[in-house]
Amino acid sequence: MNKKTIIIILFLALLSVFGFLIISYFTKDKKNQVHIKNIFSKKEETKKKPFIGIQPIGDFSENYLKASAQIIKKYYGFDAEILPKSPLLPNFTNQKIAKKYNLQLPIRYRADSLIAHLKRKKSQKHDYLIGLTAVDITTTWYDEKDKTKIKEPLWMHVDWGIFGLGYCPGKSCLISSFRYHFDTQDTERIKTRMQKVVLHELGHNLGLPHCEKKGKKYCFMVQVDLRNALLDLDNSSWTLCDECANEINTKFDTKIPLKKKEERKKV
Ligand SMILES: [Zn+2]
Ligand SMILES: [Zn+2]
Repeated sequence: MNKKTIIIILFLALLSVFGFLIISYFTKDKKNQVHIKNIFSKKEETKKKPFIGIQPIGDFSENYLKASAQIIKKYYGFDAEILPKSPLLPNFTNQKIAKKYNLQLPIRYRADSLIAHLKRKKSQKHDYLIGLTAVDITTTWYDEKDKTKIKEPLWMHVDWGIFGLGYCPGKSCLISSFRYHFDTQDTERIKTRMQKVVLHELGHNLGLPHCEKKGKKYCFMVQVDLRNALLDLDNSSWTLCDECANEINTKFDTKIPLKKKEERKKV
């Protein structure tokens, strides 16, 4: 084969490749178009609107379940599905901890075991699983300076009652309604407190740590003052600060509005 023949064969081969590309470009079906679009817009593709599962653990008010789904939709724009209740199992209690530290502790439920359980239980169709329970939940409060040590006095902090706990980032969180009625019987106020904690714990799951950029009036990711938690929760914001809102809007398919000069009204 001489040089001229090789060049002609190469030319014909290139022509057929181009021909194929041109023909497929004009005859591609809708499915292909979407596929091609996705290749070139990877950024768009990775942004998604999470679908949330809400898991009542033990008996839990139907109203509060609905109020949780509503606030998630209203603020984050995510749909949430309320699942059938799951039982409170004895292996979630604080009695192992009580035994370990030789303490007499009233039976309460360990939030860390429960969020691990929720993470395992989460089905494929849900991106996040939020547990809601009416029983008191606890975690261990570690020393602020040395995170490996339990805060002193140990008997008080080893099994510390909390409003909620969530992985940051992660796939599950837990909210308890137990503490919201310590100083009130007003169900509207109790519901409001619970909704704020739902927004906060889901914020942790979405990757937001506690916010130190702004005060509690500007961002619901500010940690409540643990010694004065209920009052602090009442005074806390219904919205994220602009920095936290921007972080969520960049990562997810959300359009959380940014604050104007004045604080926005209740969402
Ligand atoms: Zn928090
Ligand atoms: Zn913030």
